[in-house]
Amino acid sequence: MAHDSLIPLSVPHLGGNEWTYLKDCLDTGWVSSVGSYVDKFEKDLAEFTGARHGVATASGTAALHLALLVAGVKPGDLVITPSLTFIAPVNTIRYTGATPVFIDSEAAYTQMDPAQLSAFLDSECEAGPDGLRHKPTQRRVAAIMTVHLLGHPVAMEEICSLAQKYGLVVIEDATESLGARYKGAPLGQQSLLACFSFNGNKIITTGGGGMIQTHDASLAAKARYLATQAKDDPLEYIHHEVGFNYRMTNVQAALGCAQLEQLPQFIERRRAIAARYQQELQGIAGLRVVGEAPWAKSTYWLSTIVCEDSPFTETRQLMHFLQEHKIQSRPLWQPVHLSPAHKDNHVGGPCPVAERLYATALNLPSSSMLSETDLTRVITAVREFFKRP
Ligand SMILES: *Cc1c(COP(=O)(O)O)cnc(C)c1O
Repeated sequence: MAHDSLIPLSVPHLGGNEWTYLKDCLDTGWVSSVGSYVDKFEKDLAEFTGARHGVATASGTAALHLALLVAGVKPGDLVITPSLTFIAPVNTIRYTGATPVFIDSEAAYTQMDPAQLSAFLDSECEAGPDGLRHKPTQRRVAAIMTVHLLGHPVAMEEICSLAQKYGLVVIEDATESLGARYKGAPLGQQSLLACFSFNGNKIITTGGGGMIQTHDASLAAKARYLATQAKDDPLEYIHHEVGFNYRMTNVQAALGCAQLEQLPQFIERRRAIAARYQQELQGIAGLRVVGEAPWAKSTYWLSTIVCEDSPFTETRQLMHFLQEHKIQSRPLWQPVHLSPAHKDNHVGGPCPVAERLYATALNLPSSSMLSETDLTRVITAVREFFKRP
């Protein structure tokens, strides 16, 4: 074992035209926040997902923040989001001065549960003069920020029909799930605004970066304006609003263009890895490998197992056991209603399913670079753990 190298959870896979496109940026001097690669990356990604407009940003977090702003979220509003998520979307809700409403997850695919969303809207909200109001706080409910977790889509139709019924805007945090499909369609099609991330651990990377997509030209223009310090006059430097420096650089976009060319292969490889986990771990008593819903095509950005009958400690023991075998694994995120950063400023909950998944689920190595030999090492180690007396 000692000679084995570390098997990481997920690492950048730079196997295409990255060098060529980066060199082009350096050779031409176009390295900063405008350039042909930015335009091309926006256009190519919009083509890939079927969106009309794309606005490249400095990060996925910046994309989410801008999406909330252009969707009209105001200080004092409430924005609905799952408790089980990486913290970024919740942080962006707080940046706007709004307060998050946490909805619990469903256990099968670990996504926000439309039944819980429906229950919240139905029992805790009422129609107000300027839209939906949360009865206990009398705050306006402004939007739903859904998060497609781990490469798997949420139940979009259910969520969108609830949004329509209650007059709410939907923003998709698709940062973990670029390339996933909902009922055959790429993510980002059914909402007002969808956001993507190209951080180093995502399925494609620009080092760091993000994208907002929308069918609405005026929202795209507004997002671009806010991302560019809300500059109204390029010569006189007149600004009518408080803007941000949230643009993507040409260097980042050059990487993005090269990465996007490889995305279909990356998805295929991650799906093949997930299929082996399904096949070779499914028989273990008490262990469940998270699959995909009949209506979903997951990218399996991160393959997930759930130690169904295990207490928190046993799941952590498995994580440490894998670590001893130089295999990286990771629990899902602490549900955000428990996070010290947000626990005193939110609405909603309890979220028992999210808490249970936090205690029992682990992500396994899922890199598109993962070799069959290393994949076998992971599978063997997990099996060995469950064979212990
Ligand atoms: C990665 C991620 C983000 C943020 O993306 P960055 O590009 O790292 O800012 C937002 N939401 C979720 C769910 C993520 O996993």
